[in-house]
Amino acid sequence: MSIAVICTGTELLKGGCCNTNMQFLGAKLTELALPPVMELSIGDHPDELCFALGCALKTADTLVISGGLGPTADDITLETVAAFFGLELVIVPELKEKVEKRWAMRHSGHCPKFQYKQAMVPADGRYFDNPAGTASGIGFETVYAGKMRRIYILPGPPAEFETVLNSGILCELEKTAGEKLYTTGFLICGAGEAFVEKHAKNLFGELDIELAYTAVPGGTKIFFSGKNPDLVNGTAKKAQEFFGKTALGPGCFDLPAILLEKLRAKNFTFGCAESCTGGICADTVVSIPGASDIFKGGIVSYANSAKEDILGVNEDLLKNYGAVSSQCAEAMAQGACKALKCNCSISTTGIAGPGGGTPEKPVGLVYIAACVNGLTAVKELRLHGSRKMIRERAAANAFYLLYELLDAPENAQC
Ligand code: ATP
Ligand code: MG
Repeated sequence: MSIAVICTGTELLKGGCCNTNMQFLGAKLTELALPPVMELSIGDHPDELCFALGCALKTADTLVISGGLGPTADDITLETVAAFFGLELVIVPELKEKVEKRWAMRHSGHCPKFQYKQAMVPADGRYFDNPAGTASGIGFETVYAGKMRRIYILPGPPAEFETVLNSGILCELEKTAGEKLYTTGFLICGAGEAFVEKHAKNLFGELDIELAYTAVPGGTKIFFSGKNPDLVNGTAKKAQEFFGKTALGPGCFDLPAILLEKLRAKNFTFGCAESCTGGICADTVVSIPGASDIFKGGIVSYANSAKEDILGVNEDLLKNYGAVSSQCAEAMAQGACKALKCNCSISTTGIAGPGGGTPEKPVGLVYIAACVNGLTAVKELRLHGSRKMIRERAAANAFYLLYELLDAPENAQC
């Protein structure tokens, strides 16, 4: 089985909306060992959709199409797809009833005719329930260019797309897939892409495994794909051994989530004091479900006065060394533990740019600290990139510093 994806929506092309449907679908299909071979994003125009269908069907036997199932005139996906394959559309009585019920919930009077578009499927097609909205998912098989093809069409709003995908489509794909392509991988904390690639190629370049890399603020993600699951998993395990402590291990990409588990296992509590990251660390932790049993809070202490008043950073320390200093980072981490009544913390202070740098303290100079039961580790970072990248990298490094300190407190500089 070879799957291609077509995402419709002019807003996707104009930067008005991030293609999260593709992100969700790509991850789900990769989990099922059925990664898609192609994705096309197109505007809401019948000619663009026909072009994309022709293009995708040159390489794929299965299509997943997102968007354009609404009731309005700009929702052209179903009728365009039906016309492309020469299929008749029929009204499904249960869907007609659903459309009428949902109309009556919000309006008075008769349900207008155009709403019934959302009750149609191609003759011999089937529908997938959408409890999150009116438009159902649609599935059908048809012959195109002498080969049997399977087509799925799903509503575009992400909550509906995800619900419909989970309401039988993924199961169907998994059950009927032929040969699979297995993928696993993990994050290597703090490592650059070139470093990871060089070693991975040396070690595994000869194997029947596809290697892929993605640089992220906290390091590099490495992926191993192949048709033999034992070879894929075995290679990933060997790579984990090679990269040592910095490698999170197969399936693990989220360092903060793993850090939280580690803290939970030790019955520790956690807080952060942030200057240049301005809340990224706290936001990252709060995004992890169940963080509340560990996380006490985050303090965004941007001004010197906030560092002094809330975190108790010494006025003389700030005068003598400046806010961007290892001394300040250390005092912030210790201050966070006191102010938030937790036994572990991280802190960040630095120059994110683009302005504000000096020859002594250039843009990208960041100090981070981590504290565990009064023991503090501090690290100087020289980061590159945009303001956003510097801030994200600073946060990722701070999490890693705490992760390391929990494992090897002997490395801390008290
Ligand atoms: P509707 O009834 O809302 O029109 P629809 O199935 O026709 O449903 P679209 O019109 O394609 O869906 O998209 C509706 C909204 O869903 C878009 O405005 C956009 O915000 C969001 N959306 C569509 N496609 C995507 C996508 N690929 N990724 C993320 N969001 C999307
Ligand atoms: Mg629409």
